[in-house]
Amino acid sequence: MKSLGVYVLLGLAATVYCVPVSKVTVQDEGFAKGYLKRFFNLTEEKDPLSRKGADRMSKKLSEMQKFFGLRITGTLDDNTLEVMKKPRCGVADENIARYSTFGDGLKWSKNTVTYRIVNYTPDLSQAEVDDSIRRALEVWAKVTPLTFTKLTSGTADIMISFARLSHGDNYPFDGPDGTLAHAFAPSPDIGGDAHFDDDETFTFRSSTGYVLFLVAAHEFGHSLGLSHSEDRSALMYPLVQCQFELLEMNNQMSQQMTQRR
Ligand SMILES: [Zn+2]
Ligand SMILES: [Zn+2]
Repeated sequence: MKSLGVYVLLGLAATVYCVPVSKVTVQDEGFAKGYLKRFFNLTEEKDPLSRKGADRMSKKLSEMQKFFGLRITGTLDDNTLEVMKKPRCGVADENIARYSTFGDGLKWSKNTVTYRIVNYTPDLSQAEVDDSIRRALEVWAKVTPLTFTKLTSGTADIMISFARLSHGDNYPFDGPDGTLAHAFAPSPDIGGDAHFDDDETFTFRSSTGYVLFLVAAHEFGHSLGLSHSEDRSALMYPLVQCQFELLEMNNQMSQQMTQRR
């Protein structure tokens, strides 16, 4: 009987030691580095194995963990990795004024802003895309002095397109999930434009796939000059929100726009 007890204990000990502490792999490390470069302005160290390179990576991991309300450890743990792998907007989270194409505090110097839907996704009918985009802009028209006029040809302030992978700017899409869309702050040329990753499945209102209206409403916030919010309930939170009340969105946006005036 005594020896059985010893065996049970040994068995338990073996079980405990066999449980992996973390699932983070070398591949995950590479993925995390790419994520921090893209969204938190991590710059490449000449010698990535140097102390300076490791410190910089740890600092950026801490910034990312703080932004998303995670435990700030400065190391890549499973929770951090899980957030990094969630579907999201492609615009950077860190002080985006550092990037030449985005800027804080930018806004249109006129109250009538034009938009044009350059091409369509095969996921929805054209009427559904038109309606989703119109409603997404309406969300902003309600809380700003802006009105939006649709063009069917020529150059509009907000050029809306669906594209896959590399598509002519420096921000290639990444296939299904990951980055869903991105948009540029007000300025001439590409400024204001919104691009949607056509490797995603966009939907009109169903719960499977990404609801185009919701993704577009977020992106148009960037088209009007807003950056990301750390507030989970805000429309400008960078991760995809499965559900939120339109009323709450409108209240959030009202506050954000009032603060900017
Ligand atoms: Zn965004
Ligand atoms: Zn793009």
